[in-house]
Amino acid sequence: MRRFSGFAVAREAMRAHKGWEKQWDNPELKSSYDVIIIGAGGHGLATAYYLAKEHGITNVAVLEKGWLGGGNTGRNTTIIRSNYLFDESAGLYNHAVKLWEGLSQDLNYNVMFSQRGVMMMAHNVHDVQVFKRHVHANRLNGVDNEWLTPEQAKEYCPPLDISKSARYPVRGAALQRKGGTARHDAVAWGYARAAAARGVHIVQNCEVKGIRRGASGEVTGVETSRGFIGAKKVGVVAAGNTSHVMQMADVQMPLESYPLQALVSEPVKPCFPCVVMSNTVHAYISQSDKGELVIGAGTDQYTSYSQTGGLHVIQHTLDAICEIFPIFSRMKMLRSWGGIVDVTPDRSPIIAQTPVEGLYVNCGWGTGGFKATPGSGHVFAHTIANAAPHKFNEGYTMERFTSGRLIDEAAAAAVSH
Ligand SMILES: Cc1cc2nc3c(=O)[nH]c(=O)nc-3n(C[C@H](O)[C@H](O)[C@H](O)COP(=O)(O)OP(=O)(O)OC[C@H]3O[C@@H](n4cnc5c(N)ncnc54)[C@H](O)[C@@H]3O)c2cc1C
Repeated sequence: MRRFSGFAVAREAMRAHKGWEKQWDNPELKSSYDVIIIGAGGHGLATAYYLAKEHGITNVAVLEKGWLGGGNTGRNTTIIRSNYLFDESAGLYNHAVKLWEGLSQDLNYNVMFSQRGVMMMAHNVHDVQVFKRHVHANRLNGVDNEWLTPEQAKEYCPPLDISKSARYPVRGAALQRKGGTARHDAVAWGYARAAAARGVHIVQNCEVKGIRRGASGEVTGVETSRGFIGAKKVGVVAAGNTSHVMQMADVQMPLESYPLQALVSEPVKPCFPCVVMSNTVHAYISQSDKGELVIGAGTDQYTSYSQTGGLHVIQHTLDAICEIFPIFSRMKMLRSWGGIVDVTPDRSPIIAQTPVEGLYVNCGWGTGGFKATPGSGHVFAHTIANAAPHKFNEGYTMERFTSGRLIDEAAAAAVSH
């Protein structure tokens, strides 16, 4: 695979970009693989990449029922942060932030990671207490997070209205300077390209319809829309469809699937320098490099697989944005879309072996898994390769829902991002 470089870009600019090759092949399916990953979202592709790169396991296929990155990976609002409350979360999400910092170089693909800062606003005494608790917990874990006065918050984000007469006055904010955004589809493409270059087969339009098990209950392969494919190990990374896929192996998951929507405005000149979220008024906002304001908030109240969502939900989201940023009240919205997110009871993921030998699952990222993509793929690859968890996903088992050892991040995920 030809490497991207300033020189290569300049050369192609001189010859109408005719020299670029395909970034990954459409390979012939083999009859069996060492590892099959179900789902070519960011997490599945990252898992395949790290299996090949860190564990030398290259006889791997990633099977995708639709197109690469067409699930939540290509539908999210790209916010990255690691300011969660619990020690387990600090370990996992900060591992991801560290990998994000070198990801473009590692993949030789510009994922446009931008550490523009994520600011979480406090509007009442309860918010102030919750966010200060997060700041202290984060700092104990070596995660950057700091408390800002309203004036400091406005200095960091000039469009912020901190007047005392505001309906929801700003009483301060928690700022994670290392948080930010990345380009979501570039993340999927970058991992796909780098994994394919190491021999991984990426197979689109190949739906998994069944999981075959042997005489002792162990996984032996998957039934797909293109026939049976054998595998010694299978990793399920199917986000909102995880419960369906796991049922194929008779495993019941503690998951509910909800529609989650987002929307963007018409593009405007750069006017919004960071990411701002308000759990209380209930919305978050940033500006993409194209100039669109990228806006989101919460899931629908009901479970569904519709990939759309209710109109009243985005109306409520825009009410909240106009409440916090009256400056944007006359902006036109360009488009909205939805994805299906898989939510666990404690709002933390499951990255683990399952009771079925050879079957592994990485799911439950709910409304906030994009930020974890590199870390998630990295520890899941370790788990599959060694049949044992990495130190950063030891606590993320399915058994925690029966033992009660929860990682309750509901507060950190309060406005879905
Ligand atoms: C509107 C919205 C906004 C969001 N905003 C943020 C945010 O700002 N920050 C953040 O951190 N997170 C955010 N998220 C969450 C984030 O997008 C997800 O947690 C993350 O992308 C999950 O990645 P994944 O690779 O696990 O799933 P996906 O990208 O959904 O990949 C799963 C893949 O599995 C495939 N699949 C399913 N069933 C089968 C089958 N039977 N056979 C073959 N393939 C199958 C699907 O087609 C899909 O491509 C948001 C989500 C949405 C919907």
